[in-house]
Amino acid sequence: MYRTHTCGELRIDNAGQRVELAGWIQRIRKMGGMSFVDLRDRYGITQLVIDDSKDPALNDIVGRLGREYVVKATGTVAERSSKNSRIPTGDIEIRIESLTILNASETPPFTIEDDTDGGEELRAKYRYIDLRRNPLKKALELRHKMAQETRNYLDSIGFIEIETPVLIKSTPEGARDFVVPSRMNPGEFYALPQSPQQLKQLLMVAGYDRYFQIVRCFRDEDLRADRQPEFTQIDCEMSFVEREDILTTFEGMIKTLFKNILGIGFDQDKKFKYHKAPLSEGVFPRISYQDAMKYYGSDKPDIRFGMEIADIKDLTAGQNFAPFDSAEYVGGICVKGAAEYTRKQTDELTEWVKRPQIGAKGLVYIKVTSEGIKSSVDKFYSAEQLEKIAERMGAGKGDLLLFLAGPWKRTLEALGTLRIEMGNRLGLRKSDEYAPLWIYDFPLLEWDDETGRFYAMHHPFTSPKPEDLDKFFGADRDRIAEVSANAYDFVLNGTEIGGGSIRIHDQKIQERMFEVLGFSKEEAEYRFGFIMNAFSYGAPPHGGIAFGFDRFCALFGGQESIRDFIAFPKNNSGRDMMMDAPSKIDEGQMKELFLRSTI
Ligand code: ASP
Repeated sequence: MYRTHTCGELRIDNAGQRVELAGWIQRIRKMGGMSFVDLRDRYGITQLVIDDSKDPALNDIVGRLGREYVVKATGTVAERSSKNSRIPTGDIEIRIESLTILNASETPPFTIEDDTDGGEELRAKYRYIDLRRNPLKKALELRHKMAQETRNYLDSIGFIEIETPVLIKSTPEGARDFVVPSRMNPGEFYALPQSPQQLKQLLMVAGYDRYFQIVRCFRDEDLRADRQPEFTQIDCEMSFVEREDILTTFEGMIKTLFKNILGIGFDQDKKFKYHKAPLSEGVFPRISYQDAMKYYGSDKPDIRFGMEIADIKDLTAGQNFAPFDSAEYVGGICVKGAAEYTRKQTDELTEWVKRPQIGAKGLVYIKVTSEGIKSSVDKFYSAEQLEKIAERMGAGKGDLLLFLAGPWKRTLEALGTLRIEMGNRLGLRKSDEYAPLWIYDFPLLEWDDETGRFYAMHHPFTSPKPEDLDKFFGADRDRIAEVSANAYDFVLNGTEIGGGSIRIHDQKIQERMFEVLGFSKEEAEYRFGFIMNAFSYGAPPHGGIAFGFDRFCALFGGQESIRDFIAFPKNNSGRDMMMDAPSKIDEGQMKELFLRSTI
């Protein structure tokens, strides 16, 4: 037996007990003829103390110890004379009788402390050492708990977890597939699932009406910051449901996670005080895609704070201010208490919105001060006109109003980004506050000028709203572009955490979908024949949702980055820095797979 207790377990009540511990050496100090050794394991740190004058053999072992050596220690629990209130075992120490070195260690490349001296790359290379640190340990523990709670909850309401294969045929979710060559089928490839979308739908056809899976998904995308080529979803599907059933069911799951993990319940008044739309009792706010764009300039609004966007186009027309007169849309936000912004600060904000990422042409401001209204467009608008605008925006003394003008969608998105920036600058996006909501009624399709075709905004299995079926089956491209999807997203603090839809279960609608997406009959048959075929064998009405599990965990952990919530993540170029993958394979392997190197 290596240990009787863990390094996080012993307390003053254990004083006098003879114990055995095993773990890693965190620190060694010598003081007044004694050696103090901090022994660490997953559960905590316990201080070992050795009387240097007692046992030369023991002294010899202590002399050989180094950081991160693995040892087994035997001794007696005793009350400490100088206690350490910062750790749970801080009242006791172990008077050591014997020590065994189980394994030596090189000096670690960085310190195993909460604030380590190791840079990101070094830590990625030695991930197994980095994982010894507390913040990472806590992140993985949180992830485990989230998974457990999710499983318990879904199990308790009749869902079953079913594993789907990883080697499949391509499932389009808008990214490139990772592919795997097949040795037994020369020239043919499996695709790794971008999600188990089609498989979970087939499970519905098979009658498993409540499915879930905590499942790895793979997408070969150009990596933006904090995206991983492989990531985990809580993937779910239900039969005989409408949107309402899905939202209610998963609101239950989300609330359970909040309650059991963070101890947070949702008190509507407190949590959603800024949101204008009336809320029914006990449900998360729901905002249509159109309203989300209109009020927040985003399909994933952060509603921890107000600062909603207001359209002022009608109040600005005909005053010879060309940037407003010529714009399709003019809108702004009211930044409470920021009227004191200096010229320098507003100039800096103007530069900020002109950056290519935002792409605004310029910024107009109005300041509501105790001396009256001042603005950057005083030449064009009378005080009364400016006051009217201020009134529309609910501005009071001390507020700063910021306006952008241009094409509808682009300007609203720019205002949305500006809103978030001002929220950050004013400290309104508090990390301990959570504001969940649902966005619904997304457009079904997006037209892409470059390729001259429609793309599914969610994925090609998403159902059009029944009231839009006429448009969908019609020939008018503009009208097809207006079709709404029966799709919804779950958004938390400005981040999209989940998305799903009611699916197409009618073979004809599915065929039309592939047609609208520009697939020929043969191509659709080749790629999706199996699912279309399944729809002719009694497919029930069904729908589902998937949550980004890594991001969910990161948000619960109060972190921006998902990387710490994944045991072995990849870096920004999709590399595993520890294993150094991807890597070349040898000629023999290439040959066997019928692959030829082109470099
Ligand atoms: N398969 C979808 C996704 O990965 C989720 C869903 O529609 O259930 O985004």
